[in-house]
Amino acid sequence: MKVLGVDIGGTKIRFGIIDEHGKVYVDERIETGFPLYELLEEHVVRLVKEYPEIEAVGVGTAGFVDAKSGRIVYMSETLPGWTGTEVKKQLEAATGLRVEVENDANCAALAEAKFGSGREYERSVLLTLGTGLGGGIIVDRQILSAGPNGGAGEIGHMILYPGGEMCSCGRRGCFEQYVSGTALKRRIAEAELDMTPMELFPAAKVNEQAEKVVRDFTFDLACVISSLQAALDMEAVIIGGGVSESASYWMSYLEEQLDGVMLNKLDVKLASFENEAGILGAALLVLSE
Ligand SMILES: [Zn+2]
Repeated sequence: MKVLGVDIGGTKIRFGIIDEHGKVYVDERIETGFPLYELLEEHVVRLVKEYPEIEAVGVGTAGFVDAKSGRIVYMSETLPGWTGTEVKKQLEAATGLRVEVENDANCAALAEAKFGSGREYERSVLLTLGTGLGGGIIVDRQILSAGPNGGAGEIGHMILYPGGEMCSCGRRGCFEQYVSGTALKRRIAEAELDMTPMELFPAAKVNEQAEKVVRDFTFDLACVISSLQAALDMEAVIIGGGVSESASYWMSYLEEQLDGVMLNKLDVKLASFENEAGILGAALLVLSE
């Protein structure tokens, strides 16, 4: 079986023709443009004509998605006009094929669970530490999909410090404000250090201030993991995103912090995929059944 997986981001849209083993046959990228839906439909219809072996279409996108109806519940101005778009309904009408739509972080979690670092677990959580903090929850090897508000797996907006830092969601103290690339930059500035997040981790060995930032950061990350485990009892947490590239520097700190806050032991793994997780996970939306 071959399907089309589409990954819609703020700057690029990626299209992959993928089989049930995760083999990518065709891999195309275009720049994100507007109106977005029209652009998406144009390319999906073209690919379906060009490759008649495509049996279904999975779409992963930034934003809050109601997976059941395949509608975009909310997306910020990064993708103007995207909020409210009936992606599933319209693309099914345009192609005559089955279409499923999900949030991109959930797709990445599914890709890890099926083909990547989460393969051996029934329950896992993917934390994507990029500019923000994204996540996806896998229970019984399936995505814990969003409800009518499109919000399940919005781990970045669980509150860690009530009344704390202002978040982009309009509330205070969300995880994302403490555990993300952006949060690291703020912590570095507050510590009056003159370095990038990439420089911070190696500096922790020789600079006491830098080490304190790394300790505080990994403590908060450990608290995120601990809270998730208390609620979900997952067997593993998988960490991806830009911050995971420096894991060799911070993993020992995280392990030490986890010892102090976990109810039960769990496996900590690094994500297997960086850029491909989006198209693989999107394809899995229609490959899994
Ligand atoms: Zn928030």
